[in-house]
Amino acid sequence: MKLRRLTRKRATDEVYEALRDAILSRGFKPGERLQVEEIALKLGVSLTPVRHSVQRLCTEGLVEIRPRSGTFVATLTGEDIQSTFEVRCALECLAAELAIPRMSRAIAAEFDELLALLRQPVSDEEALRKHEQANSDLHQTLLQASGNKRLEEVYAGLNAHLTIARIHASESRKTDTASESPFQSKEWQARFTQEQAEHEEIVAALKAKQVQRAQESLRNHIYRAKDAMMSSFAAVSAPATARAGRKPDGAAPSKRKRSRS
Ligand SMILES: [Zn+2]
Repeated sequence: MKLRRLTRKRATDEVYEALRDAILSRGFKPGERLQVEEIALKLGVSLTPVRHSVQRLCTEGLVEIRPRSGTFVATLTGEDIQSTFEVRCALECLAAELAIPRMSRAIAAEFDELLALLRQPVSDEEALRKHEQANSDLHQTLLQASGNKRLEEVYAGLNAHLTIARIHASESRKTDTASESPFQSKEWQARFTQEQAEHEEIVAALKAKQVQRAQESLRNHIYRAKDAMMSSFAAVSAPATARAGRKPDGAAPSKRKRSRS
């Protein structure tokens, strides 16, 4: 567990930000226990700001307080991931509808730049981080292009949960392919090629100002990403949830797959 020491005032805000960063940057793993005393000691603050921050993270759904048991970094169930992706899809489809009448040369150029970044081959973890950033920027650009600040805020709230889901998925990538580089596998290459085609189609539809086509391509892209994440998630979460005696919600994603008509 790595936490930077705090020096400035407004302890609660700083503690909150340090903990949130640590959760979203994999410093704390999903399901990891958070020891309030230990965190306070490491950050050089009293217990109060740590307790307040934990409460705030709890209302955001990033932390779970289990009575008589302790405080833990949230773990997502398959159902959580499913619901989050459904809402994400609806928000991005709305963003497309609002963004299309406002499409300008400048926004189109921004999309083109991101597509060019996304075409770069990915052969190691560093390149993967850049790729994931460009992917996230592409979707963020769509949200900003909508010109609706409220929509952007709601989307940002969802993103924290998607980040946790991504951490689950990347943990499974590590366990799946301990011996060989995951980026060489046929599955990875196929997914990369497909994702690129989907991004190109989304941008083409936005630039052509075709609302239905843009929404259709967003739906395809987001639900395909959801299915991929559900299978990675099932792979990594099934043994853990079984051990803990919990219902393995994420263990059977195939039953939940929606048909795309
Ligand atoms: Zn994408």
